[in-house]
Amino acid sequence: MIDTHCHLDDEAYKDDLDAVIERAKSVNIRKILIPGIDTTNVGSIRQVCQKYPNYALPAIGLHPENIAENYREQLTNLYKSLCEHDDWVAIGEIGLDYHFDKTFVREQRDALEEQLQWAREKDLPVMIHSRDATQDMEAMLTEAAKLGNRGVLHCFTGSYETAKKYLDYGWKLGIGGVLTFKNSKLHEVLVRLPLSSLVLETDGPYLAPTPHRGTRNESAYIPLVAERLAQIYNTTVEQIDYQTDQTAQELFRIEI
Ligand SMILES: [Zn+2]
Repeated sequence: MIDTHCHLDDEAYKDDLDAVIERAKSVNIRKILIPGIDTTNVGSIRQVCQKYPNYALPAIGLHPENIAENYREQLTNLYKSLCEHDDWVAIGEIGLDYHFDKTFVREQRDALEEQLQWAREKDLPVMIHSRDATQDMEAMLTEAAKLGNRGVLHCFTGSYETAKKYLDYGWKLGIGGVLTFKNSKLHEVLVRLPLSSLVLETDGPYLAPTPHRGTRNESAYIPLVAERLAQIYNTTVEQIDYQTDQTAQELFRIEI
């Protein structure tokens, strides 16, 4: 299995990262992709990836929640880092987040547009973060797909109609702990979608699946999500692993 989204460089893992990686390996997690959030964590992500070569894989991007007055300067520096290395597996996480703060909505759209363009230029997939911005996001990703972008809607929790629109344009959906929450309706959406459109993720340290909800999430919990998917698709966990691996490998062009 591939964890397509885990913030391994986060403070939450700093005391026991070796053990976190060991536990992930022991449940057959073959790769972990680390999304960037701004200029401050480029170095820490690269450090983690150096420590676990060919296992932890780096992405780079400016998260919408980290967009402020200085976003142009951040983009300039991130683009420099992007060009300095050739082992990035994705641009991300990038996107739109209108949940807490709408002060920089225009800037968020501008930054997303620019980073989508980087992804096309470098032929990389994108990891998309979208919260309370469905309408704008759908419009932007529809256009982006027409221009050649590909990628994943990380932590997808939207409606069937929204999912269908994304899938029609080739986007994949990242599925994690939310699927296992008691009050989640996500299973009703997923059962109507092809398994081949899904990839697994934790979004660790956040969104730990049941029965670990509320505690630190880690890649070793991914099998809980795979088990829930197997129930929903009335298939085996092995089939879930196989299919989500195929999709992730193809999307991120990685080999396991
Ligand atoms: Zn994330």
